Amino acid sequence: MRKQIAAANWKMNLNLQQAMELTDQLVNSDIHLNEAHQVLLGVPFPYLLKVKEKTDKIPGMSVCAQNIASTKNGAYTGEVSGEMLQGMNIEFAIIGHSERREYFKESNDVLASKVNLALEYGINPVFCCGESLNVRESNTQNSFVEKQLKESLFHLTANQMKNFIIAYEPIWAIGTGKTATSDQAQEMHAHIRSVISQQYGKEISDTVSILYGGSVKASNAAEIFNKPDVDGGLVGGASLVANEFDTIIKSLKK
Ligand code: PEP
Repeated sequence: MRKQIAAANWKMNLNLQQAMELTDQLVNSDIHLNEAHQVLLGVPFPYLLKVKEKTDKIPGMSVCAQNIASTKNGAYTGEVSGEMLQGMNIEFAIIGHSERREYFKESNDVLASKVNLALEYGINPVFCCGESLNVRESNTQNSFVEKQLKESLFHLTANQMKNFIIAYEPIWAIGTGKTATSDQAQEMHAHIRSVISQQYGKEISDTVSILYGGSVKASNAAEIFNKPDVDGGLVGGASLVANEFDTIIKSLKK
């Protein structure tokens, strides 16, 4: 079975003490991860190594960067490169979150460079895509998301696409409390998988984990995750509360 993944996105929240308390609560909880499960904690850069010391003790739990630079190195004040993350043994990075696309103007082309650099340094991208409310209301979400995938990912080889992680996050559902229905999520996830299948074949598309993101919480996770093409979630707000995220992890397909 392809990986079922619960990924936390803490964004720019929590002071160090709060971050370590939350990590302790999660690593000490009674979650039982099987081989098909993966829990990712997308923490701010300064906390990566400290949180990693704790998650390293839990098989199936890893830290995840929230971003990666689009250039290898050089005079880019404030940026963090793939090589730096690799040197800290960070294995995952969120790429193309809608907040990065909107506030930092990250285009599909820039995101293609980030994906390339992540892969070059052995980092698994958690590649985010998703449409705005305008796009959804004009019923053009399928072609919109397809374009995001084509322009940022479809230069990859089949081998690179194998076991790839994509997060579908409709922007209108992020941090708004307005979740896509499980049927809306399934419909888009099936579309994404079919687009990948057209490009790379069914065998590869069946290995790709497609996470849903957008106001996932303990109370709706199981219904969304139970859909056949939904392989877990990327979770913002609810991942900051230990027992919420704990229940979300336990809602992954067994
Ligand atoms: C996110 O930031 O990726 C996200 C899905 O946020 P929230 O769960 O708060 O909607």
